[in-house]
Amino acid sequence: MKRPAVPPPARRMPILLGRLKEAYPDAACALVHQNPYQLLVATILSAQCTDARVNLVTPGLFGKYPDAARLARARQPDVERLIQSTGFFRNKAKNLAAMARSVVADHGGEIPRTMEALKALPGVGRKTANVVLGNAFGINEGVTVDTHVSRLSRLLRLTRHTDPVKIEKDLMELVPREDWTLVSHLLILHGRAVCIARRPKCGACVLADLCPSAKPN
Ligand code: SF4
Repeated sequence: MKRPAVPPPARRMPILLGRLKEAYPDAACALVHQNPYQLLVATILSAQCTDARVNLVTPGLFGKYPDAARLARARQPDVERLIQSTGFFRNKAKNLAAMARSVVADHGGEIPRTMEALKALPGVGRKTANVVLGNAFGINEGVTVDTHVSRLSRLLRLTRHTDPVKIEKDLMELVPREDWTLVSHLLILHGRAVCIARRPKCGACVLADLCPSAKPN
């Protein structure tokens, strides 16, 4: 039997959001951090790496380099050794040092709190800036689009795009601004727990009746 067509994204989004909030009431940033500096460093390290792995590495790194000023003066091989297990460690160490030097030179050692200033830091793109603004400063400037957010947004037909910037724009139109940071956490958690890549558990999914990609299982 043919499935009835689901309503358009704008009608589904409030319901999807409500169900996800109910399913993941503790949704929050998975990168352990105490301040904007730590979150920025952790986010840079999280490229091509799991949050769990980053969380194993950051206590040692923050113990040795507790702020941007200290990191700016670090010897690259020392940083590389501490972050080695996160992968691409030479590049990441270089980016961390350049970012820290720029924070010291241009912002008095404090992590800036605007999209423009964050994006101007070496190794920081819109995605990283969104993570820091939303989670360290509580500023909903955009939606963080990672691989889960991108995949689920397409499966749920909240977007037809593959370009993260375009996906972000679509989500910003559908989701109330106060939930821009949260929606990303919710989709990531759902992508890890239920809507797993290549083996989504549609039969156990709270969004199944509103998901155009739902499969019987
Ligand atoms: S119904 Fe299936 S494809 Fe749709 S969001 Fe849920 S798990 Fe993913």
